[in-house]
Amino acid sequence: MENHYCVVIIGAGVAGLSCAKYLADNGIQDFVILEANNQIGGRCQTVEFMDQSIELGTELLQGNSSNNPLFQLAEGQHLLDQDDDGLDRDDCYHDEDGESIDEDIINEIRTIYDEILEKKVPTYPYENYPDLSLGEFILAEFDQYLQLKKVSLDKNEIDQREKVIDWLGKQHPVLNTIGSEKLTDVSVQGWISFESISTNDKYIQGGICKFLQTIFENKIAKEKFHFNSKVKRVAIHEVNQSVNIEVIKENQQIVTYRAKHVVCTQSIGCLKKTMHEMFVPPLPYSKQVSIEKLGFGTVNKIYLVFSQPFWDVDFNSFNFLWNTNTEGKLTCLENTPYHSRWCKSLTGLCVHHRLSNTLVTQISGEAGEYIETIPDGLLSNCFQELFGRFYPDNQIPKPKKLIRSSWFHNPLTYGSHTFIKIGSTVHDIKRLAMPWPDKPAGPLVLFAGEGTHERFYGTAHGAFLTGIREGKRIVGLYKSNF
Ligand SMILES: Cc1cc2nc3c(=O)[nH]c(=O)nc-3n(C[C@H](O)[C@H](O)[C@H](O)COP(=O)(O)OP(=O)(O)OC[C@H]3O[C@@H](n4cnc5c(N)ncnc54)[C@H](O)[C@@H]3O)c2cc1C
Repeated sequence: MENHYCVVIIGAGVAGLSCAKYLADNGIQDFVILEANNQIGGRCQTVEFMDQSIELGTELLQGNSSNNPLFQLAEGQHLLDQDDDGLDRDDCYHDEDGESIDEDIINEIRTIYDEILEKKVPTYPYENYPDLSLGEFILAEFDQYLQLKKVSLDKNEIDQREKVIDWLGKQHPVLNTIGSEKLTDVSVQGWISFESISTNDKYIQGGICKFLQTIFENKIAKEKFHFNSKVKRVAIHEVNQSVNIEVIKENQQIVTYRAKHVVCTQSIGCLKKTMHEMFVPPLPYSKQVSIEKLGFGTVNKIYLVFSQPFWDVDFNSFNFLWNTNTEGKLTCLENTPYHSRWCKSLTGLCVHHRLSNTLVTQISGEAGEYIETIPDGLLSNCFQELFGRFYPDNQIPKPKKLIRSSWFHNPLTYGSHTFIKIGSTVHDIKRLAMPWPDKPAGPLVLFAGEGTHERFYGTAHGAFLTGIREGKRIVGLYKSNF
């Protein structure tokens, strides 16, 4: 029968691709991947600019670790980039008055920050106490630290440390790995359950999408990919053990697929928005609650391309250490419909590791969501004004081009990373990962994707492992037939 398959996979991101490859490698060829976009990748998105690849999503493979199978695959294909990591170039730290902050203070606070995260947070007995946010925990520790320091330091020295604490709180890698929202939204026990394997993260030569093409797309038959196919409804029939999948094609035509199993890999952001209309009958209440409770944040990347660098080749980054008591007003946004509160979330700009004329920044949480609404030209003006405020000695020209992601308003993601929000626990991730219905006769709907990995949520390797997990589950059902 036409459009009748053993397995339908929703989504051609890392999880969907790894599931498809696993099925194909293990004797199940009767599957199809329905992808709403016109290409693979999902939250891995490379754009080509001036013969170079620019990443709007995943950029680094975490690792040098046996825990990251993607890292190992890239290593095996000799695709890991050996480019310089900027460590022997200069990082500048200026406050809002254009004053430089001593790097020793940065290192002092960074050391304490890491110590709190690595040594103190894991010992928090969250089973016996109400869950606390990572932000509250860290600030309480720093409060104590500053109280002790006040004995020997003057007000200016304390102010400087406060600026660094504020800056690190916004730009610490935690925000980019476990979830991207404010640290005051992230649960301490959620952080404890997350396993960071960041030791020697590496870029990928030619970009992440080329890598995914090499290891997945080129190894899966072309006809298995049905692009421009947006799944609207997943209706299960327990009696005849099948699932009907209603799909909107590019020409708005609705096509129905039927399968014995459906693997859903849409982001938690998509599930939050669509689960009530998508699943018939509705998902079990406990699963719905878990989807609602889990956090799904936004990290956006912004690249500013200049005709030529206006900075010295020795520079690696220009950091913005905001005064803690200012509002962060931008004159270029006066008399426009846009506010400028978001700008205090900006922590600075880095020189791109390969494009020497390009500065890049990341902006997370509500600020990251908000700036998606500001037009490119106006946003470029904001960066010019901000740079001039923190680095008044440098004349910043208008960028030639601004390239950026918009993950929050993207209806195929509605954000970028799953995290364990205050009020949710790792059990919500486990509950979501359970197939539905959970019956020995065989699951009809299975769930994969980064948001279903209890230790590596928010990462590409987490997504990869969940695709394999669900592939294995399906292959296990048919093992005796092979
Ligand atoms: C800015 C940013 C930086 C990141 N940096 C890193 C990093 O450096 N290292 C790292 O390990 N991870 C990083 N990540 C995280 C990583 O990109 C994701 O965890 C991973 O790519 C998620 O893969 P996935 O398959 O779970 O989901 P997705 O990539 O979201 O795939 C889901 C797919 O489903 C499709 N889809 C959605 N709805 C439908 C529908 N109704 N019908 C059909 N198709 C649908 C989507 O188009 C998408 O292709 C980053 C992410 C972002 C956004």
